[in-house]
Amino acid sequence: MLPFLLSYICEMPTERERLLRHLAPTSDSPMGLAIDRAEGVYMFDPSGKKYLDLIAGISVSNVGHCHPKVVQAIKDQADKHLHLMVYGEYVQSPQITFANALTSTLPDSLDSVYFVNSGSEAIEGAIKLAKKATGRSGLVSFENAYHGSTTGALSLMGNEEFKHPFYPLLPETSVIRHGNFDDLENVTTETAAVFLETIQGEAGIRVPSVEYMQALRNRCTETGALLVLDEIQCGFGRTGKMFAFEHFDIVPDILLLAKGMGGGMPIGAFIASNELMSTLSHDPILGHITTFGGHPVSCVAGQACLSVIQEEKLVESIPAKENLFRKLLNHPEIREIRGKGLMLALQLRDSKQLFPAIDRCIENGIVTDWFLFCDSAMRIAPPLTITEDEIAEVCAIINESITK
Ligand code: PMP
Repeated sequence: MLPFLLSYICEMPTERERLLRHLAPTSDSPMGLAIDRAEGVYMFDPSGKKYLDLIAGISVSNVGHCHPKVVQAIKDQADKHLHLMVYGEYVQSPQITFANALTSTLPDSLDSVYFVNSGSEAIEGAIKLAKKATGRSGLVSFENAYHGSTTGALSLMGNEEFKHPFYPLLPETSVIRHGNFDDLENVTTETAAVFLETIQGEAGIRVPSVEYMQALRNRCTETGALLVLDEIQCGFGRTGKMFAFEHFDIVPDILLLAKGMGGGMPIGAFIASNELMSTLSHDPILGHITTFGGHPVSCVAGQACLSVIQEEKLVESIPAKENLFRKLLNHPEIREIRGKGLMLALQLRDSKQLFPAIDRCIENGIVTDWFLFCDSAMRIAPPLTITEDEIAEVCAIINESITK
């Protein structure tokens, strides 16, 4: 019996093998880190080994993992009700309260929130809204832009290698150079909307100049094209402002949020003026609908997350934290540190060093990674709750991990 049991146990697939066998893969080499629980800036594997999460699930866990106020809000809502009805029909106070709180942190012209389930869905909603509201069909986006994996979002992606196998995508799209003033001529009276990540993420963190952002805003206003700012990765306090567009003294026509918005729960939104948004509700009615968008549990989690950001004054704490990263990350192989707030890219001189450095960081208990369109820079996007002592610890480990 014992030998049989032993051989049975030995042949049992490990969790990692089961992951590879039954979960559809997104690459041949998933990180495959087994995490059992997470709290604050830390994640713990089944043996209890602790990892500091330097990427926050890719800009999601802005208030840290399992913030007690977020978890409590989820539990309280689960005791009241889960899904009741498709979006937009019933009076559901979690949606109303959250939409109210969100719009009160935004300029007056962004007063209507359409809740969806993810970033890509926010993009899709914005594409439709822009077309419907302007009666135009041209869409402009940027080199190295990432807006999601659905077909509309992919049509706006600024990287041919990733788009090409999925053609044909949406017609009448054009990709222009990020930060190039001359290319703004491509925004015309045929353009329904220009889509831009206020701070580009997967490009390896690219921050545009204030002059460029204002020129883009002016060009959109002149031509009647709508300016859509994707803050799915850079919003919700990450860059040291609640919303990244505040760095540039401009206001978008449509703002897109997701990721950090839900405190760890799935939710996204496209936000515009009531006037613009109302174009989706007629000719035809139900021009945009969703079953789960604005799920009550996600809305209370998002509301709690927003309150935590405000109560713990997380946005105000970001500049000092950014400065500390910039001061302490001082290995001679670091060429530059790009970005704003806690949305940073550590650019190495020699790209061959990156993957070994990432592996060494993970071995030493710091989870980080690279960028989809920039495989020579390390991602630094921890929960905004990271302390200055933790930053010092992380920087020492990163410096040690980059060896020549
Ligand atoms: N826009 C940006 C800037 C993103 O970073 C992402 C996700 N990485 C998306 C859109 C798509 O979001 P989701 O994965 O939730 O669909």
